Amino acid sequence: MTWRVLIAEVKQETSTFNPMPTLYDEFRIYTGEDIFTAYRDTKTELAGAFDIFDEDGRIELVPTVAADCVSGGPIATPDLDRLLGEIEASVRLQSSIDAAYICLHGAMAGADEGDPEGRLLRNLREILGDIPLVASLDLHCVLTDRMVEHADILVPYHTYPHTDHYETGQRAARNLLGLLDGTSKPTVARVKLPMLVRGDELLTATGRFGEAIRMCQDVEATESGLAAGVIIGNAFTDVPALQSSVLVTTNDDAEAALEAAERIGKFMWENRELFQAKLTSLEESICQANETDGLVVFSDAADATASGASGDSNAILKGLLASGFLKRALIPIVDAPAAAAAFKAGVGATIDVSLGGTRDPGRFEPVAVTARVKSLHDGRFTYENGTIGNGDQTAVLIVGSMHILVTQRPVYVVGQRVFQDHGLNPADYDLVVVKSPNGFRTWYESIASLIVPVDVPGSTSANLKSLPFRNCVRPIFPLNEDVPSPF
Ligand SMILES: [Zn+2]
Repeated sequence: MTWRVLIAEVKQETSTFNPMPTLYDEFRIYTGEDIFTAYRDTKTELAGAFDIFDEDGRIELVPTVAADCVSGGPIATPDLDRLLGEIEASVRLQSSIDAAYICLHGAMAGADEGDPEGRLLRNLREILGDIPLVASLDLHCVLTDRMVEHADILVPYHTYPHTDHYETGQRAARNLLGLLDGTSKPTVARVKLPMLVRGDELLTATGRFGEAIRMCQDVEATESGLAAGVIIGNAFTDVPALQSSVLVTTNDDAEAALEAAERIGKFMWENRELFQAKLTSLEESICQANETDGLVVFSDAADATASGASGDSNAILKGLLASGFLKRALIPIVDAPAAAAAFKAGVGATIDVSLGGTRDPGRFEPVAVTARVKSLHDGRFTYENGTIGNGDQTAVLIVGSMHILVTQRPVYVVGQRVFQDHGLNPADYDLVVVKSPNGFRTWYESIASLIVPVDVPGSTSANLKSLPFRNCVRPIFPLNEDVPSPF
């Protein structure tokens, strides 16, 4: 007996506070068999799911579309319509589908669509009918009622920083096999928590959030447990459903699902004051960098391209220039005109360019520098998880004691490979700026003497009160005072 399992993926994480729209052409899209070439033997959800399905031996995979994009601003309406339309059209072409595994991030937003993933799941459900449908999610997903309604089981990550993509794909695939075998009958409980969370306590290995996740894992390990997670939303995806949730799915045991969801939800709510970021002023951060021996890492969470920011913040660069910083610093920035100017001038040339403020000019004003072009690159490199990154025209500029990695397009600046593949080894510097709130810790804790979360402006600032929220659930902690308990 062979079951035909449809595979689709769409992933992007949106900061609605980033004014630069995300376009269709920025998505990296694989179709059909190319999905296997791109994802097998990587550390992704799809690879994890493929391995479980292969091992089972009864599954014929039906790959359709896998589309993912660096986090960014809201997806322009025609571009989102085209993207979702192509996925749906590809699914419509398939016949005799027995089940579907849909790999999602969950915190995507269109310029006019607050819930693209819910829309996709609803439309796929309509096309595919009443067959087993499992989706995996980032725990930063903005969970909507529509998503819960149109999937049988939703399987979220259990780690932050995220290191369990592969395992999440495996759990999703096992859940799908349970549905195909007819051994599971999902009962779902969801508790909504009017809270937005940031800060170190979210680190699942060491922080309080990890305790909540371990409660979820304990639920999954019970006889009736199928999937459980705390889905905290991307705090910068300001859409009507934005809040946190606990989602528990059990096998035909609604009571156990509800008991667990409420118990874990209460734990999160009682600890809400802990889940706020402690940030250090730029001035103090630079003092600490001057006083510390060994590598200092500045976390520029406010301009985290990993969370949807524009990547063109020059706030830290400006601070370092103004303070006359003399130590060796490595700084990434997205600046297409500066990269183009470096290409035009060539390696070894000295150029006068401005840096920053090309994508979010309301927040960042360009700063003029004289730079020497150290090297030029086509921008393609390999992320730590085995997938390919692409910053397009990429230049390394030398400004005083600073090396600046200038990319034409945003890339994730979370790991070390983004630097290393451009000839820059983070361990050789006194200061490295990363564009990530926490994910970078996986790759930098072992080489850093000091990590500083810097308080600078940006469309993904952990200082949530600095952002112009308009759409999220209200009242909500910490944006409002005295938010009533959901219990
Ligand atoms: Zn995430």
